[in-house]
Amino acid sequence: MKIICIGQNYAKHVKELNNDIPEEPVFFMKPDTAILRKNNPFYLPDFSNDLHHEVELVLKIDKLGKNISKSFASRYYTSIGLGIDFTARDLQRELRSKGLPWEKAKAFDSSAAISDEFIPVEDLEKNDIAFSLDINGETRQEGNSNDMIFGFDEIIEHISKYLTLKQGDLIYTGTPAGVGPVRIDDRLQGFIGDKLMFDFWIK
Ligand code: ZN
Repeated sequence: MKIICIGQNYAKHVKELNNDIPEEPVFFMKPDTAILRKNNPFYLPDFSNDLHHEVELVLKIDKLGKNISKSFASRYYTSIGLGIDFTARDLQRELRSKGLPWEKAKAFDSSAAISDEFIPVEDLEKNDIAFSLDINGETRQEGNSNDMIFGFDEIIEHISKYLTLKQGDLIYTGTPAGVGPVRIDDRLQGFIGDKLMFDFWIK
């Protein structure tokens, strides 16, 4: 399986990082070794001093497809989970300024936390999915799928022009505003609506 992540997909987050609104979806990838499941703790890596949380809705692909048009895209995913796209912001800033690829900042081990449970799409209002991240009981990020610059189906259309999507692939759909650093002993709890999707610690 592969993990595809959309960057800069919520206007307020694009602004907080001082970037321009993209004209088409921006995507990058993480390897399968990035997956962090089962509420296992996230161990802070020693190569970053500014390791950020990015809470994101995650699509799970359950059908093989290539060149999928927007109007058929909803046939390719039936459930939505919640994850964290952990980002070494200091490394990302340095790589961006040099025009280099982001893998060191984005694709490291355990950088893709994912909920064990995925919610069936038919139980959700796709254009109005509220989600949030609490750290130590305090809400730090709040988003709604309604605020995405590129919606789920546009994302799938765009990615599948370039990559064949396969069953089990995960697509992280971008983070809303409020990203910030995590610290040892922080407790991260992610919600879709009121439903607790993950609950784990930074170690
Ligand atoms: Zn992200």
